[in-house]
Amino acid sequence: MKQTLGLYLTLFALAVQVVPCAAADRLTPLDLRDVKVGGEIGRRIDITLTNNLLKLDVDRDFLEPFRVQDGKTSYIGLGKLIDSAVKLAAYSKDPRASALKRHLVEETLKTQAEDGYIGLFPRDQRIKTLWDVHELGYLIWGLLSDYRYFGDRRSLEAARKAADYLVKNWSVLPSDWGAGADVAPHVAFTGLERAFICLHRETGEPAYLNFVVHTRKLPEWDLGIVIGRRTGIEGHVYAYMCRCLAQLELNGLQPNPRLTRPAERAIDFLTRQDGALVTGSAGQCEIWTDDQDARGDVGETCALAYQLRVYDRLLRTGGEARLGDLMERTIFNALFASQSPDGRRLRYFAPPEGERVYWNTDTYCCPCNYRRIIAELPTMVYYRMQNGLAVNLYTPSQAKLTVGKNVPLAVRQETAYPNDGAVRLTLEPAAPETFSLRLRIPVWASGAAATVNGEALLGPLEPGTYCEIRREWKAGDQIALNLPMRWRLVKGRQRQAGRVAVMRGPQVFCLNPAQNSGLAKLDGTELGYLALNPASLGEPVASTAVRPDGIGCRVQAWKPGFGLSPKADYELTLTEFPDPDGKATYFRLRDFSTAEDDILYSAAAASRGAKP
Ligand SMILES: [Zn+2]
Repeated sequence: MKQTLGLYLTLFALAVQVVPCAAADRLTPLDLRDVKVGGEIGRRIDITLTNNLLKLDVDRDFLEPFRVQDGKTSYIGLGKLIDSAVKLAAYSKDPRASALKRHLVEETLKTQAEDGYIGLFPRDQRIKTLWDVHELGYLIWGLLSDYRYFGDRRSLEAARKAADYLVKNWSVLPSDWGAGADVAPHVAFTGLERAFICLHRETGEPAYLNFVVHTRKLPEWDLGIVIGRRTGIEGHVYAYMCRCLAQLELNGLQPNPRLTRPAERAIDFLTRQDGALVTGSAGQCEIWTDDQDARGDVGETCALAYQLRVYDRLLRTGGEARLGDLMERTIFNALFASQSPDGRRLRYFAPPEGERVYWNTDTYCCPCNYRRIIAELPTMVYYRMQNGLAVNLYTPSQAKLTVGKNVPLAVRQETAYPNDGAVRLTLEPAAPETFSLRLRIPVWASGAAATVNGEALLGPLEPGTYCEIRREWKAGDQIALNLPMRWRLVKGRQRQAGRVAVMRGPQVFCLNPAQNSGLAKLDGTELGYLALNPASLGEPVASTAVRPDGIGCRVQAWKPGFGLSPKADYELTLTEFPDPDGKATYFRLRDFSTAEDDILYSAAAASRGAKP
């Protein structure tokens, strides 16, 4: 470091500075209306709008049960749908999305009872089940979202009325409410506590905050990581992460160190205690697990959505680069694998091994939470700093913000990421302005380098940290970042020990037997016995299994057995993990010395990337 500093002083004339990240800087997300995203992230947003949201039969599947209120349907996800429609309409400015959003809100408001209730149940059965409360919480959230993005006060008033209904009736419910449900009550409250905190923020009304703090006792919640599906399912990943998020948001209003503890515990479990799979997903049958089982019901889509929001929230307050690495790992692998490549079908689980199935309806938790988190991705690309801009996700994009003394700044990012790690940023401040530009250097990006207007930056760009460049920026200034990508054979953990997953940059690759001759009849377990030949890895090849400009991995492999012939039995093409017919992700090696730790999900990485 001293050497670097000395070098810097001698080359001061370059006027380019690499400084350690200022941990005190707080990051704030940009408004999603000010960001435009391309690449695979942008494509996923577009197809979620055009080939999913706009293809739904919202009257039949979502609204009708709220009109008839016969109590025969326990849960739909209408509030989540409204939230996603609002955000996709605001982001895309597509009139079809705006019309759908308006229809959903208007028709929902028509079903609201005089006392404020919106739901699926007749009068004598209301808020007696956990899922009725769950639905109501998200309806409040969805209506608030409409108010926040489109300013319709009727939506705000309807949200208030629904919240008032819940607070009023809560006081007359028996104290053992929810006890017989086989589910810890907090599992049913996903969404509600955040909705109340948001409602308090929008209205200033203390009753909503009091409900969260005193009735729900949010600050006191400090549950450990419960592994295994047992009565109460306390270890429900989705509910756990959602409650962590509510605590982090409450912490923004009423700072209290205990409010960050469960979130930090969850991150520690995910990254250092085998809580997350190589694809970024966590949990089995919706519950925390650390055995790295890769088959069946692993990694609920709802949980992925809330993992991402917790990473985002912690990134904003702590600024740890590792959180951005967790985001891209999760987005490019587990999250995109939760959707068919054309966008229409969605999954509850996307296991790395064995068959992946689609969820059979457009309603329910996972499809609705998928649409919501996809609509939020534009806010995770860039963040505004106290004086400057942080680049978190690498994807073609454009954004508008202000820096310094309210100087408008436009930023453009051009890249083929994750196909390669070459990223070009162009800054267009309305007037020359001094501010900081922070670039996330992923933990896998050894040898990363950057130039500003063609001049090399000083100092090594340390993987797992931020590179921060503070200088006077002028219109047209260009930053070229190069994040070298090489194939990595990442060691499996726990049940996957002794095998490797193939990675490059943030991407995990999988084996789709249908794309490879001679393998069609093998299932995930049998495919996992194949031994890869690391020496045969070359440049990525084109593959359209997932996206039009996608990539694949050509690699030779041997059948299992005693033979040591150097001649491989197969020339495989591994495809990007979201390949809908991918069935295997972990493989053997004849010589394990080429395997390396999954640096994002190991203790070494956690301490290395923690404090830039
Ligand atoms: Zn779900």
